[in-house]
Amino acid sequence: MAKVILKNIEKKFGKHTVLCNFNLEIKNGEFVTLLGPSGCGKTTLLRMIAGLERIDKGEINIGGMRCNELPAQYRRVAMVFQSYALFPHMSVYENIRFGLKIARISREQIRKKIAWSLTLLELEGLQNRLPKEISGGQRQRVALARALVLDPEVLLLDEPLSNLDTALREMAMEELKRIHRQVGKTIIYVSHNQTEAMTLSERIALINGGSIEQYDTPRMVYDFPTTLFAASFIGSPIMNFYNGSIARKDDRVGIATPIGFLKFDKETASYNMLSEGRELIVGIRPHNISCDGQHRARRYSDSVVTIRVELVQSMGDRSLVVGRGENDAVIRFLCTRDDDIRQDQNVSVFIDGRRIHLFDSRERTNIALEKKN
Ligand code: ATP
Repeated sequence: MAKVILKNIEKKFGKHTVLCNFNLEIKNGEFVTLLGPSGCGKTTLLRMIAGLERIDKGEINIGGMRCNELPAQYRRVAMVFQSYALFPHMSVYENIRFGLKIARISREQIRKKIAWSLTLLELEGLQNRLPKEISGGQRQRVALARALVLDPEVLLLDEPLSNLDTALREMAMEELKRIHRQVGKTIIYVSHNQTEAMTLSERIALINGGSIEQYDTPRMVYDFPTTLFAASFIGSPIMNFYNGSIARKDDRVGIATPIGFLKFDKETASYNMLSEGRELIVGIRPHNISCDGQHRARRYSDSVVTIRVELVQSMGDRSLVVGRGENDAVIRFLCTRDDDIRQDQNVSVFIDGRRIHLFDSRERTNIALEKKN
């Protein structure tokens, strides 16, 4: 395993700048996901680390060594492609052995490595089959085995689970976590799927417009999105957003929004940057809004809003409720089956004042960051 450092990376295709002043540091043995919308440059980054794509500016450092000019085969990295790129005319065994044939190791060592990978990835018994004779999940594991037998310092995975159905993907995620624990390699994983990123990663690098929006643990990215983009990209169902401004009501500082006056936690309210009239964007996750039945422990910082229910969409054990409050503002929240919420009903909902996210209208950054500066 090795530390990977990307310093001031710039990459253009023709006149189109894909990555600009891009910096990222990945620790030894860490599992980091590059997450972002389609076209933000995730695969390009992975290919540059692998040595398959030239960088225009900056430095790539793997295990303490500058690698800009180092050919791919000397970088001690292995990549698993989205398509798996297995050779269709070769058996599972031959596919896994392929990269080892050029390594200067004995036949016995090759045999041992392949046997180890077959056990690790639960592929025993399938070694003589062709790729077309195994399932999609097994093909994905063969691709992983082929990368792991090379004993890379860094494993690069480009959306390896995107061709699998939901059930297989969930199993494959568990397996990847297990394998990471067992082999302890540094893993850089590319995905545009936030569930994969949240489940698998120790840290998520959220990329947008060629640079990093936020680089943090899944929990921090979820609980404390530093930008409006991070808040809107992470979390499902998506956050509710409202334009608002700092206001006072009954001697209490809060936010005037289209859905009404929202209170927020005392600690947030005491920030000295919350001058009256300051314009903000308020973000509230549907999970932090509860209806009457669920709301057991009321707090002073909770706000109550009355809405008319427009739509109840089943999500299995819970439902997503879409309603309208004052000024026709839309509110999305979750309820359980026991809540028995129906279309056209008027309900009161409670907004958890401790979980409100406030973003500067112009800078689009979380205002809590200002406190730290
Ligand atoms: P996705 O999630 O859809 O795979 P991505 O974030 O991995 O997207 P990249 O594949 O890295 O995005 O592409 C980033 C941008 O660079 C895109 O606008 C893409 O069209 C462009 N691009 C990638 N490779 C090339 C190339 N070889 N020539 C020209 N443009 C390219």
